[in-house]
Amino acid sequence: MGRSHRHEFDAVIVGSGGAGLYAALEASRVRGNRTAVISKLLPIRSHTGAAQGGIGAALGNLEEDQPQWHAFDTVKGGDYLVDQQAASILADDAVQAVYDLERRGLPFSRIEDGKIDQRRFGGHTRNFGEAAVRRSCYAADRTGHMILQTLYQQCIKNEVAFFDEFHLIDILFEGRKCTGVVALELATGDIHVIHAKAVLIATGGFGRMYRTTSNAYANTGDGLAVLLRRGVPLEDMEFFQFHPTGIRGMGILITEGVRGEGGILRNRAGDRFMERYAPTLLDLAPRDMVARAMTMEIQAGRGILGDPAVDDYLYLDATHLGREVLEKKLPDIADFCRTYLSLDPAENAIPVQPTAHYGMGGIPTDLDGRVVATGSGGLYEGLYAAGECACVSVHGANRLGTNSLVDLIVFGRRAGRHMADFVRQADFGAIPDDALAMQDVLARANKKPHDAHAEKIRTSMKTIMMDKVGIYRTGKALDEAVQELRGLRHEVAEVGVGDTSRSYNNDLLELLELQNLLDLSLITAASAAQRQESRGAHAREDFSERDDDAYLHHTLTWLDGGSVRFGKKSVDLSIWEPKPRVY
Ligand SMILES: Cc1cc2nc3c(=O)[nH]c(=O)nc-3n(C[C@H](O)[C@H](O)[C@H](O)COP(=O)(O)OP(=O)(O)OC[C@H]3O[C@@H](n4cnc5c(N)ncnc54)[C@H](O)[C@@H]3O)c2cc1C
Repeated sequence: MGRSHRHEFDAVIVGSGGAGLYAALEASRVRGNRTAVISKLLPIRSHTGAAQGGIGAALGNLEEDQPQWHAFDTVKGGDYLVDQQAASILADDAVQAVYDLERRGLPFSRIEDGKIDQRRFGGHTRNFGEAAVRRSCYAADRTGHMILQTLYQQCIKNEVAFFDEFHLIDILFEGRKCTGVVALELATGDIHVIHAKAVLIATGGFGRMYRTTSNAYANTGDGLAVLLRRGVPLEDMEFFQFHPTGIRGMGILITEGVRGEGGILRNRAGDRFMERYAPTLLDLAPRDMVARAMTMEIQAGRGILGDPAVDDYLYLDATHLGREVLEKKLPDIADFCRTYLSLDPAENAIPVQPTAHYGMGGIPTDLDGRVVATGSGGLYEGLYAAGECACVSVHGANRLGTNSLVDLIVFGRRAGRHMADFVRQADFGAIPDDALAMQDVLARANKKPHDAHAEKIRTSMKTIMMDKVGIYRTGKALDEAVQELRGLRHEVAEVGVGDTSRSYNNDLLELLELQNLLDLSLITAASAAQRQESRGAHAREDFSERDDDAYLHHTLTWLDGGSVRFGKKSVDLSIWEPKPRVY
């Protein structure tokens, strides 16, 4: 392996998506706070840049709207597993957060009087469920791209130090105090130990554990897996969202904004089948319900091919929106259709299938992004998490569309602010003796004989997750998945790296990412097996009802060697009583 280096910063942020950049912006606002961002990608290539449809905030620019309606929709959408004070903060702060982004230069789409335009999105309603409301603020279908550009330039202005193409491999602790991170510099193969008073993990999602996914290649859950190995628990990992409209066979996302603008899902008879599943909100019901409805249509032989035994699909019809609306409000989507399907969405319906999209679970945090160590709320010192890798929990068992971007901005900002104050009074902890332990692990992987095994293991993992830990689940399939994933974890430990070069060693990188995904797959399957009820995105065929008596609590999971240990954390139900979900 290469050489090792030491650095020192007050605040270190791992990940340069929306959550990481907003936190960095806040942490660096206090004069004298030395702030660094570490990212395995160039910052503006983070997956936030792929977000299309928008960011939800009750601005009420086109019709009446209120933050408390937004908070309620979030709680109901999450099937009452949402922490309700957190949801209130999300909805209240969203309004100011959107105006802050606007002032910082984000070019939102606008209505004629100059106000920010807003469109409908799944599960967002007026007056506690009466009808769909226009709440999603957007910049055409490039909202995330614009957020990243806006935040990145502001971070540069604040002189944040960027370590681009540095891959997090370890997080350092002195007892419960976080003291820094270890990263691999991709260009040189050198190891960097970065000593810090506070560390914030914002490494994004882990959708690459599934075969069909909307997620970028980099979404391998590294931050979660590294913390898991250091004894930090994860929360609610059984809840993984399938987005209803991925491009058939590819998983590439067609934003819910298409349905927000009036697009309709149709089966082989041309029927608007959502009329039967969600009579009020129709195609704009929450994603878990729409994805299940699509699966049921296909199973009943009403998919476009009419055969549940093949990889069937349905149509998303946007032809009636007209070319002008499509080109103005959904230009990238129109482009995707032409590029990937040789199809003009103004003329033809788009073939779609559900695609693995978003992990509701993650690193448990309090309302200021501080990482929680136990079910009773004990905290780590100087350790924060925000964004998709974190679990505040505002998404509960199912996230509403547009609420992830809100989560990044609201809780990224809160965590960054808390961090800025914390580092002013905190001391540096000690770097542990085993800080360079990962260097030996990497060197060993380089020495093992290489065969093509890693690719086989990756394919098996994705197939297991898709077939056994997908939209519908059974106890039997989940138990099998747990056993098979355990086996794959043993196998991957024996895989060697063929390429021994130090510069941009992608073989090594992909092996590290695969190990991370396997750990998270195991946690996801095991968490799903122990939750014997159906709630939000977790639909059990063998336990088809929600069971509030037995399961109205968050799941905490620890990975002890190869076995998963479970704990519970209570849900904050301080505002609304759980009710059945009807849309
Ligand atoms: C196609 C698509 C469309 C979406 N559209 C919307 C939408 O319209 N509205 C909405 O609310 N949500 C949307 N989402 C969800 C939302 O975009 C994501 O949940 C969110 O952007 C995640 O942001 P993040 O800051 O947590 O992480 P990301 O933006 O994913 O960034 C992760 C960062 O972590 C870094 N990183 C990861 N691992 C390491 C490592 N080992 N070492 C160093 N750095 C590392 C990466 O380099 C990257 O900078 C969409 C998601 C997808 C996939």
